[in-house]
Amino acid sequence: MKKSLPVLETSWRESSILPDGSRKRIVPLTIDGRFATARKFVFAVLVAILVALPWVKIAGNPAVFLDIPARRFFLFGATFNAQDAALVVLLFFAVALTLVVATSLLGRAFCGWACPQTVFLEGLFRPFEQKILGTIADRKRREGLHGPTANRGRTILLHAIWIVLATFVAHVFVSYFVSIPKLFQMVRTNPSAHPEAFLWMSAVTAAFYGNFSRFREQTCLVVCPYGRLQAVLVDDDSLVVGYDATRGEPRGKAVAKASHAAPDAAEESGPASKGACVDCGRCVAVCPTGIDIRNGLQLDCVACSACIDACDDVMDRLKQPRGLIRYDSLNGLAGRAKRVLRPRLALYAVATIALITATTFATRRHHSFEANLLRNTGTPYFSDGKDVVNGFELHVVNKGASATDYAVAGDDPRFTFVVPISTPHLEGGADVRVPVMVRAPKGTLTGEKFHLKISNASGESVPIEASFLGPAAGESIR
Ligand code: SF4
Ligand code: SF4
Repeated sequence: MKKSLPVLETSWRESSILPDGSRKRIVPLTIDGRFATARKFVFAVLVAILVALPWVKIAGNPAVFLDIPARRFFLFGATFNAQDAALVVLLFFAVALTLVVATSLLGRAFCGWACPQTVFLEGLFRPFEQKILGTIADRKRREGLHGPTANRGRTILLHAIWIVLATFVAHVFVSYFVSIPKLFQMVRTNPSAHPEAFLWMSAVTAAFYGNFSRFREQTCLVVCPYGRLQAVLVDDDSLVVGYDATRGEPRGKAVAKASHAAPDAAEESGPASKGACVDCGRCVAVCPTGIDIRNGLQLDCVACSACIDACDDVMDRLKQPRGLIRYDSLNGLAGRAKRVLRPRLALYAVATIALITATTFATRRHHSFEANLLRNTGTPYFSDGKDVVNGFELHVVNKGASATDYAVAGDDPRFTFVVPISTPHLEGGADVRVPVMVRAPKGTLTGEKFHLKISNASGESVPIEASFLGPAAGESIR
């Protein structure tokens, strides 16, 4: 048999911002429930993925590595360098539009379930706080018994753990920008050997510590642009966390609910006309952003589903159906017809599919190395007697992280190709400039196209086409 519910005071914490603009510190109540359990599992999987991604190798390269100093990005087997800026922009817009479609369909599910801010705060930092300091009631009771210093030892321990966690998160974050071997080397060596990197790591650690220990929900409420954007992306058919006011109002204390299951008696006694909400305040007490979802959909709601678990628990205890607060669309909550497909979503989806198709097409034509043929400056051609010679410089860039052998060869029997370094060996990220001479008998192939083929050890090849220049008919060569 479950214990009777504590009725919580809600008026003191309806939001994290007080009327005078100052911040109200929020200490949400811990809640168990089906969504809380599912979120713990999702957080564990996401933390594992976030930690593993820089370690996993695809085609010899890290799955995700943003090598900013070298202007190279490794993304799931594809390598992008400075020449691929257009492709990276295309990729960025494809991801952004996918998020727009997801928001139009699922509201802020990303915020509540998959955003790194939520994953690390709710999956790592907050559980330690609740284990060490207990609930807000525990904290108040301890302070009441022992004065304001009662929590000092626990607080010091908690902050020490938070600093360790912030250091861990900072290293995970930095591993996306510094190669894993380099990160290991930096961790093992004295900071004086790499003071700049050490200062960066300390700053990132301090930022994460401040964010997850103090700033917390304010990141979602006042910093994150995606949170602000949701107002224009969500419509009445998007999935949101909402309160069923039709069923819940007028709210009233639990004592009135005895008559809820007996409508006839209720009509006579008066209190039975109250809605299903017993105004216990648990949905507000568990909210990490301090809002009351009963006031309607709010920008501050990150769709974490804690209030659903809290209210379901209340309904279970009162033997009422669950779902007074639930995932539903605003139309569904108001009892109106629900639509999944609607013009706005169709428009977003068409734009997203078009962009993803363009990105996929561009990525398929994308190579792990770059090869460009540059004509020599100055005289475009010269003659050595019976032949006309065009001079070029072939620039080959290995965009991958590992060393590779390349082969440069002419691909046109009408021309003679002279390539002094025909099998260059390039370390990861390195480049080489190879001189290339193309010859043809005088007066025969002027204006014709010729082809060069550059291939790597794994059989990937980049064809290059260029024009052979020479004197026009009757023109002499100096
Ligand atoms: S909505 Fe549910 S959890 Fe919130 S006050 Fe009403 S009964 Fe309590
Ligand atoms: S209102 Fe509910 S879903 Fe929204 S942030 Fe608060 S607890 Fe999470």
